[in-house]
Amino acid sequence: MAITVASCNSIVRIDWSAITTVLLDMDGTLLDLRFDNDFWLNQIPKAYARHQGVSVHQAQDYLRPIFQREAGKLNWYCLDFWSATVGFDVAALKRQLSQGIGWRPEAADFLAKLKASHCQVALITNAHPETLRIKLEQVQLAPWFDHIVSSHQFGAPKESQQFWQQLVKTHPFQPTSTLFIDDSEAVLGAADIFGVAHLVTLRQPDSTGPIRSATQFPAIHHFNEIFDGLAHGV
Ligand SMILES: [Mg+2]
Repeated sequence: MAITVASCNSIVRIDWSAITTVLLDMDGTLLDLRFDNDFWLNQIPKAYARHQGVSVHQAQDYLRPIFQREAGKLNWYCLDFWSATVGFDVAALKRQLSQGIGWRPEAADFLAKLKASHCQVALITNAHPETLRIKLEQVQLAPWFDHIVSSHQFGAPKESQQFWQQLVKTHPFQPTSTLFIDDSEAVLGAADIFGVAHLVTLRQPDSTGPIRSATQFPAIHHFNEIFDGLAHGV
């Protein structure tokens, strides 16, 4: 794995003439992860506490080991799994709070530039199809993409090689000329093993969270850092 530790001030340069396909993650990359962090860390424990008649603290104690056990697995992203685990309709709660879903800075501009460029652009997400539907209703993401893929279609999360094998089979792309941007370094690690050549992560997936100074993959804060050479005049 070609892993280097990038310092806070390193500049990421993309040679757009070498890129034919751009793969983009949704939550924490194009959309602010603040919504998801608040939903899972605050809203779900509060709703579970209400539902069970226990304190929020007790609800967090119950949920914490389940979160730890399922992190990085497909269940983690599966609303059906979570509805069965907590005993109420998690998708309905997400829909009720969906006004909190929003863009990361510069993400919409970046998508407009990509649309005007020579690149094929695909959204690839671990989000459950129902979560994806709720987010696409709230934010105008869909028009910018040639393809939208949820890993649930393949029964394997982006962290697994099965996901990448299925993706290249169903939506052919050349890994050596593909740029993939994702806030999850575990996911980028899987893409790296698969052979995706250009990998970039985000310094601040959650606008209320810390800025990551050391990352395993080259990192940007905002997308305008990589606009140079992409679809001039847009
Ligand atoms: Mg993400």
